[in-house]
Amino acid sequence: MLRSLLLAAAGSDRLGRLAGSAPVSRKAVAKFVAGSDAGEALRVGRTLADDGLAITFDHLAAETRSVEQAVAVRDEYRALLGKLKGAGLTPAAEISVKLSALGQRLDEKLAHEHAQAVCAAAAEAGTTVTLDAEDHTLTDSTLEILAELRKDHPGTGAALQAHLRRTEGDCRELATIGSRVRLCKGAYVEPESVAFQSALDIDKSFVRCLNILMSGKGYPMVATHDPRLIAIAEDRARWFDRTADEYEFQMLYGVRAEEQARLAASGNVVRVYLPYGEQWYGYLMRRLAERPRNVTVLGRGLVGR
Ligand code: FAD
Repeated sequence: MLRSLLLAAAGSDRLGRLAGSAPVSRKAVAKFVAGSDAGEALRVGRTLADDGLAITFDHLAAETRSVEQAVAVRDEYRALLGKLKGAGLTPAAEISVKLSALGQRLDEKLAHEHAQAVCAAAAEAGTTVTLDAEDHTLTDSTLEILAELRKDHPGTGAALQAHLRRTEGDCRELATIGSRVRLCKGAYVEPESVAFQSALDIDKSFVRCLNILMSGKGYPMVATHDPRLIAIAEDRARWFDRTADEYEFQMLYGVRAEEQARLAASGNVVRVYLPYGEQWYGYLMRRLAERPRNVTVLGRGLVGR
């Protein structure tokens, strides 16, 4: 119930605007968000890199409803990529991009052009781009754009969501040489016609997808905080004779930091998904929906302490 309310709140622009003016303490938001601009994100990124963690930066933007907004997102990423190299953070740091932020809902061709420009800037900086997975109405278009991007930038990765019924098939298509696939459970509310609904069915799908990716020829990026799935991923990596540089774990900034450190200390590549930007509200609500008990933690911050 609370989860559904929080996910509904995540999609509400009105609540987002209200939250923007609410006295949410910086400390509360800073648990999950690196800062409001690239400079702050780079400082947090530096600390993570010094602790032996890899990073994927995500710029939190408002929902893109105009070409001007899409252009601004493209330019933000290009500027960030320019700074990453200067800060000595590449190749340890890459970036995560939502095609919808680059204009996918307005004009797919435009989003593709913008993504191409971002991938070119990433190549220039010596790093890569991963396309985030959004709701299922965008999956076909995202995978088509991915295939086009990979012609010039074969290292471009994509996230796939285990909760979608189609994802096993998508994993099979993408478990090929050079392909980078981030496997996650899926953060969007989806209808039963396209997505598994129970936690057990989603976990079972995650394991089936993991088996395909780990036994395939691509580079699996295992994005979960779930201790059981992490243990299964470690097991499959051993079973399929993958060395530590042939797959990686990914977790969100602020979630299970001690587990991130443990996995890194035992020789795994661990990449932290590091969001930054003024538009933190929807992102924060999705994180709370995943773990409603964090509402209490954040609630203390809402009074501005
Ligand atoms: P959950 O079912 O949420 O949690 C499983 C278990 O993990 C819990 O029972 C608990 O034991 C542990 N756990 C979880 N959170 C905490 C916590 N805060 N503290 C302590 N223990 C905890 N979704 C998309 O739809 N598209 C994307 O592109 C996308 N990219 C992602 C990238 C990364 C790096 C990660 C980590 C997630 C991404 N997600 C994305 C979100 C993802 O789909 C899930 O919504 C989110 O990761 C929660 O699922 P989980 O696998 O951690 O398992």
